[in-house]
Amino acid sequence: MATMGAVTGRIAALELSNKKPGPTTSSARPPLRSKQSSQTSVAKLLTKYAAPNLVHASGSMKSTELTAQALSSTVATKAKVTGARTYTGNTPAPEITLSFDIGNYDGGLELENEKRGEKIFGEAAQELALDSSSAQTSPTREWSLHNFDMGRPLGKGKFGRVYMVRTKAKPKYILALKTLYKSEIVAGKVEKQIRREIEIQQNLRHQNVLRLYGYFHDEKRIFLMLEFAGKGELYKQLSKFGCFSEKRSSRYIDQMADALSYLHSKHVIHRDIKPENLLLGLNGELKIADFGWSVHAPGNRRRTMCGTLDYLPPEMVEGKEHSEKVDYWALGVLTYEFLIGNPPFEDRKSVNNTYRRIMKVDLRFPPGMSAEVKDLIARASFSCAISSIFVNLYEQLLRHEPQDRIPLVDVLGHPWIVKYRPKNCNRGSEVY
Ligand code: ATP
Ligand code: MG
Repeated sequence: MATMGAVTGRIAALELSNKKPGPTTSSARPPLRSKQSSQTSVAKLLTKYAAPNLVHASGSMKSTELTAQALSSTVATKAKVTGARTYTGNTPAPEITLSFDIGNYDGGLELENEKRGEKIFGEAAQELALDSSSAQTSPTREWSLHNFDMGRPLGKGKFGRVYMVRTKAKPKYILALKTLYKSEIVAGKVEKQIRREIEIQQNLRHQNVLRLYGYFHDEKRIFLMLEFAGKGELYKQLSKFGCFSEKRSSRYIDQMADALSYLHSKHVIHRDIKPENLLLGLNGELKIADFGWSVHAPGNRRRTMCGTLDYLPPEMVEGKEHSEKVDYWALGVLTYEFLIGNPPFEDRKSVNNTYRRIMKVDLRFPPGMSAEVKDLIARASFSCAISSIFVNLYEQLLRHEPQDRIPLVDVLGHPWIVKYRPKNCNRGSEVY
């Protein structure tokens, strides 16, 4: 049985070797912790295998790598595993022939399509004729619903249902197929937002960012081929447990900080970080999804008011210009919500009170939170004089002034994060 690290590394090799067979990129990634070869880990292995999610340390975005052709090329490439070694493309090796249960299809897409949505025409129709394969040079692969075996429903989104699917072509990739009804997008006047969301997400490759492999459309719908997040919504976990332990929260925040720092290096500001927009991979690793409010910020600062009230930073509450530091603030709010179970400035009775509390950075730490995490979130209100002096020397996430917020690189090196990070940790591999 190959280790997951080897397989993931080999996938990197397959993707990168579409043009030429050659050395693998396995050295670019730290090794993942090896898993037992039980039935469960076979499932994990296959899903990892099915949904390669690469980190490009160099940082350059190549949109062509992320489109349907990239997936179809890897689909077309014979996948081979040689024990725990990374396949170089030259040595014959056994194929993976494992099957993965995608569950029973309920016929929901067809049923929904009969009742829901209308054909659209004119400019809107052109704007929403989104197809990741059309921009490709030959040979291209035009995706359609016929290319997939349909599996169980995963959820319902605002604009349509999401299904677990498997590509018919070998090796069979497991994906989440999300449908969006064009007429509803037009009615909601979010054509540009959807286009932007797709454009941004298809260019991102990070183990903690949900990958968009490709997209295609028919008369009424757009289909997004998304990485399958096997453990579903993080929000459901938070609702189930009420809150998370410091260890679990720290592991999530570590992955978040890493993913956000990747996004910011691409000049992408997410602007809508909250538990509802986070999914979990089969190994419990966090995946940032939902780029509906994200923007490319090539130097400009935007003034748009968006996002969830509880996660809005003071500069957005005031309608001022804002930068990627809005995501730092949201990370502080998220840390608090993970640990306490609700966001820090929430006031269920009055929206105005929430605004006021945000502006004053009116934070209340219930007893039981460690000094380390309070130091990361904000200055501890009830700390003794000496520790206040100590804490004040450092920056924290929930600071009124964006420039005072702790940089993500320092979050990654913060004692509360480092304390819980496993040795030889690969942030994308988590088990809870
Ligand atoms: P909402 O406003 O309700 O969040 P949405 O339009 O943003 O809707 P999604 O959240 O993307 O839609 O999808 C709806 C549900 O489908 C999610 O809550 C989740 O349970 C499931 N889902 C979506 N994408 C995936 C995925 N990639 N892997 C697994 N499940 C998914
Ligand atoms: Mg959503």
